Amino acid sequence: MKRIRIDASKSYTVAVGSGCAAETGRELKAVTGNARVMVVSDDNVYALYGKQVRRDLETAGFGTSGFVFPHGEEHKNLETYGKLLEQLCAENFGRSDLILALGGGVTGDLAGFAAATYQRGIRFAQMPTTLLAAVDASVGGKTAVDLKGGKNQAGAFCQPSLVLCDTELMRTLPEEEFRAGMAEVIKYGAIGDSGLFKLLEETEPETLRTAGANGLLEDIIARCVEQKKIFVQQDEFDNGARMLLNFGHTFGHGIEGASGYQVPHGFAVAAGMCIISRAAEKRGLCGSQTRKRIETLVKKYGLPAETGFKTEQLLPFIASDKKVKGCHVKLVVTGRIGHAGLVPANVAELADWLHDGGVE
Ligand code: NAD
Repeated sequence: MKRIRIDASKSYTVAVGSGCAAETGRELKAVTGNARVMVVSDDNVYALYGKQVRRDLETAGFGTSGFVFPHGEEHKNLETYGKLLEQLCAENFGRSDLILALGGGVTGDLAGFAAATYQRGIRFAQMPTTLLAAVDASVGGKTAVDLKGGKNQAGAFCQPSLVLCDTELMRTLPEEEFRAGMAEVIKYGAIGDSGLFKLLEETEPETLRTAGANGLLEDIIARCVEQKKIFVQQDEFDNGARMLLNFGHTFGHGIEGASGYQVPHGFAVAAGMCIISRAAEKRGLCGSQTRKRIETLVKKYGLPAETGFKTEQLLPFIASDKKVKGCHVKLVVTGRIGHAGLVPANVAELADWLHDGGVE
C-alpha cells in the first residue's frame, strides 16, 4: 500500500492499495477514534460494496448507517443533498461522527458538501471507486452539488480526514468509466510528470484492467495523487497554480455543454487536451513532438482526439465557464511533456484557438 500525505489547511493521508478496503475499519479508527459512520453511496456501488464496507466498520466497533441515492450526475443536486442532511439529523449524527463517501466523484462531491455544511461541518472520509475519483475528485477538498443553473454551483472547500483507495474495487467499473478516468491520468503526465506519461506510452491499456495489474494501477494512481498534492498544497483554494489541473478542461467543458452533458467528462477533456495542443503548436507554444505524443496517447487509451461539435456550438459554454473572468481566460498549455503553463487569452480570440485546434 502507498501512503501520500497531503498538507493543506488540514493534513490527511491518501492510502492506495489493492485490497485495502478490508482495512477500512482499522484505517478509520486511526483518524477518528469512536464515531458513528454514515456510509453514502449510489445504488450501483452500494449493491456491490456497501454491505461489506459496513460489516468491516462494524467489526472494528463503529456504528453504521447507510444513505443510498440513485446513480448519475442528475442526482448530485439540492434534493439529494437535502435528503442526506435530513437523514443525518433524524439519526442524531453529531460533529464527532463521520460521513464516508463510498463511490465515484458524484458521491464524493455530494457527501463532502454535506459534511462541510451539516452542523457547520463534520468529518468525512473518501473511498473512491472510480478511476476519476481516485486520481482527482477524492483529493483536494472541492465538494459541490449542481444547481439548475450550472454544474458545481453550490459547494465548499472541505478536506477529508482520510482517502482510502482500493484498486480492487475498480475491477467492476464499466469500461467507458475506466477510459474516462484515464483522460485525467494522461493529463497529470502531460502537465507535470513526464515519467508517468512515458509509463503510459509503454503500457498496453488492456493490461491495466487484468488481474495481477493491481501493482501497476496502484503505482499510476499514486503518481497522479502526488501530482495533485503539489497543486493543492501550493494553491488549495484554486487561485493560481491549481489552474494547471485544468489542462484540456476549458474546451472540454465546451464539448460537455454542447452535448447536453452526454459526452462523458473524461472524453471531453481528452479532446480538449488535443485541441489546445494543436492550437498551441500553431502559435509556437507547444512542440510538434509534444502535440503528437499527446494525441497518440489519447487515442491509444480509446479516447477522442477531436470533437464533432462546431466552434459556434462550443463557444457559449466555454464563455460561461467559471475560469473565464470577464473577457479574460487563462488557457493551460503543455509546452513539453511534464511542463504546463498558463497563457492569457481574450474571449474574443477563442474562436481562433478552436479553429487552429481543428474545430470547424
Ligand atoms: P460517478 O460517481 O457518477 O460514477 C460513474 C458511474 O460508475 C456511476 O454510474 C456509478 O454508479 C458507477 N460506479 C462507480 N464506481 C463503480 C464501481 N467500482 N463498479 C461499478 N460501477 C461503479 O462519476 P465519476 O466519473 O466518478 O465522477 C464525476 C463527478 O466528479 C462529476 O460530478 C464531477 O463534477 C466530479 N469531480 C469532482 C472533482 C473534485 O475535485 N471534487 C474533480 C473531478 C470531478
